[in-house]
Amino acid sequence: MRKTIIAGNWKMNHTGKDMRETITALAQSLTASVKTEIVVAPVFPYLAEAVTLAKGTPIHIAAQNMHWLDNGAYTGEVAPAMLVDIGVTHVIIGHSERREYNNETDETVRLKVKSALDHGLTPILCCGETLEQRDAGIMQSWVEGQIEKALAGLTAEEMLHVVIAYEPIWAIGTGRTATAAQAEEVCAIIRHKIAALYDAATADAVSILYGGSVKGKNVAELTASPDIDGGLVGGASLKAPDFLEIIQNAV
Ligand code: 13P
Repeated sequence: MRKTIIAGNWKMNHTGKDMRETITALAQSLTASVKTEIVVAPVFPYLAEAVTLAKGTPIHIAAQNMHWLDNGAYTGEVAPAMLVDIGVTHVIIGHSERREYNNETDETVRLKVKSALDHGLTPILCCGETLEQRDAGIMQSWVEGQIEKALAGLTAEEMLHVVIAYEPIWAIGTGRTATAAQAEEVCAIIRHKIAALYDAATADAVSILYGGSVKGKNVAELTASPDIDGGLVGGASLKAPDFLEIIQNAV
């Protein structure tokens, strides 16, 4: 049985006070018996404090990015061992905003996914097409290509520790959620691709999330779809009541 995961990607939002208030409010409302895996990704300066606040709660703390190397002359970068050192457990890799604004390529995504696994971090690997690509009828080949390139060289055992997030770029921050049928179609395509690259049992065990304008009102229908195992949530993860509603309504 695959895990349901609800992950909040805070992007470049929340200073320390907001971070503290939000994680404290989440922690107070979430009991240890919550069956969904909860992940929150604050900005780098607050990760260590977020880990401390989340200790003993069901909340896991993720970074929004990392470098793939262990150390060196890479000004402004953060290494995986540094994240592990402060208690971070997950890392978002290849978000479309990083691909668009920060020169993230399929090759750097591949290197980061492998490095995260090597350091015991759970990579949340993002993929997704633009509206132009969808309209041009190349959505499937584009997403399959992103997945194949990101996973190149990973063993089936490593694959079991990868979480995938399908985030159609046209649905991010636009309020335009993919319909459950549209999201399911692509999550199923991704699962078939993993089965083709590995085997059916491996594909069946991998959690695939949907991201793009997920809210309390649409998360139930999305997560009820057979191949959607949770959500990667942007805007609606910033306020504890909104995020809690999503967690409560996820199935
Ligand atoms: P929104 O939920 O704000 O559309 O953002 C989705 C996203 O990019 C999460 O990584």
